[in-house]
Amino acid sequence: MDPLWAELINSDWHDYRGGGGREDRIENPKWLSQFLMRCGVAPRPLPGPAGREALRRLRAVLRRSATALMAGEAPGRRDLEAINRCLADAPFTRRVAAGGGGVALELVLRADGIARILGEVAASFAELLATGDPTRIKVCANRDCGWFVYDESRNRTRRWCESTECGNLIKVRRYRQRHGGSKPSPQARS
Ligand SMILES: [Zn+2]
Repeated sequence: MDPLWAELINSDWHDYRGGGGREDRIENPKWLSQFLMRCGVAPRPLPGPAGREALRRLRAVLRRSATALMAGEAPGRRDLEAINRCLADAPFTRRVAAGGGGVALELVLRADGIARILGEVAASFAELLATGDPTRIKVCANRDCGWFVYDESRNRTRRWCESTECGNLIKVRRYRQRHGGSKPSPQARS
């Protein structure tokens, strides 16, 4: 599963089959409730217009920052400030919890709702900046798709968002270019 920051960028969905189709998945209740659950937030109620706008602003910040990192540059100062604001609005508190034969120190997020969602997504990007490897940030090799991915494969061989979609599409297209429009036989799939 891709990190939260990539998932938010990819909510600006482009039709991977070409043709220029586009959907802002922040406006898609099914996508949004799944995203909320990934952020550790109840899937209902969904964020209102102001919350969804805040998600779009963070998405633009993350897209610019990830693009800068891919080019070997640092994210812009204003973008880092925007990320820091999201982190500041979702403060943690520490607590000790007994269990499992000992006492553990826990970090408990004190924010809920949209502040928590923005905080979780910003934290995933902060983690990338602090301990991640920017050279693993990639954009799906299908130009129509444009998904951002974080390549966690050992040999950095990931090329597609989900190989079952874009990977197969490009293979079929290349086959057709070579063989003049006919569909590939099952044996032709590599
Ligand atoms: Zn793709």
